[in-house]
Amino acid sequence: MNETEALEFFVVQTQAFTETLASQRGCQGLIDSLLSQAFSSFDGNVALDAAGLPEIACRKGCATCCTLRVTATAPEILLIVRYIRWTGLADSRLNLTKRVIKADQSTRGMDETQRVKLKRPCPFIMRGVCAIYPVRPLACRGHACYDKHACLEAAAGKVGRIPISEPHSLFRSLIQNAMQSALRDAGYAWASYELIQSVKIGLDGEHCAASWLRGEDVFASARIEDVSLEEMGHTFDRIKLQSL
Ligand code: SF4
Ligand code: SF4
Repeated sequence: MNETEALEFFVVQTQAFTETLASQRGCQGLIDSLLSQAFSSFDGNVALDAAGLPEIACRKGCATCCTLRVTATAPEILLIVRYIRWTGLADSRLNLTKRVIKADQSTRGMDETQRVKLKRPCPFIMRGVCAIYPVRPLACRGHACYDKHACLEAAAGKVGRIPISEPHSLFRSLIQNAMQSALRDAGYAWASYELIQSVKIGLDGEHCAASWLRGEDVFASARIEDVSLEEMGHTFDRIKLQSL
C-alpha cells in the first residue's frame, strides 16, 4: 500500500466510524459497535495485505513482547474493563484487580525504554497467556513478527532488528487513528492512554462508560502524548481537507 492508498483508507475508515457514531450517539452499544468495526476491519485488511507474505511467528503463549508499553483508546479500555468484570477475572480468587494495581505502581509514568529495561510482564498475562485476549487492544493485535527468537534476543538486551509484520503495524495505526479522528469530530474524548493505569481507573469507577458516553475524558490522567493532541488534530484536519 502506497501513501496515497493509505490516506484514502484512513478517510474511508474515518467515515465508517463517523456513521456508527452518528447512528448510536450516547447508546451503550456504541462501544461494542465501534470495536467490532475496528477489529473486523483490522483482521480483514491484514489478511488481504499479508497474502503471499511469510506466516507470522506469534502464537498463544508467546508473550515475550508483553513487557512493552501498551496504549489504547477509551472504547478499547471500557471494553476490557467490562470483560474483566463479566468474566469474573476481577474477583478475589483470580485477583486481577490487585495485579493491575501492583503493575501500575511499578510502571506508572515509564516510557518505552524504561519498560523494556524493567521487563515486568503485563498484568494480564496469567498462566503464560493473555487473559483478555478476545478484547486485547489494537496495539497488541498490531504487534506481530516473523521471528520469535529475534523477540527473545531483543528482550535479553541484544541489539538486533525485529522483523515486524508491516501489514499488522500499518493497519493498527490507520484504524486506531481513524477511530480517534471520528471520535474527535463527534465530541468524545479521543486521546490514547496507557493501558494499565487506565484499566485501573476503569476498575475503580462504576460509571466510566456512562461518563465517557457523555463526553468526559475519564482516563485523562493516563494520557500518552508522544505526539500532542493538537498536532494529531491538525494532521487529521489536513488529511480531511485534502480528500475533499
Ligand atoms: S511479537 Fe514476538 S514475542 Fe510477541 S507474540 Fe509475536 S513472536 Fe511472540
Ligand atoms: S494485553 Fe494481552 S497481548 Fe497485550 S501486552 Fe497485555 S498480555 Fe500481552
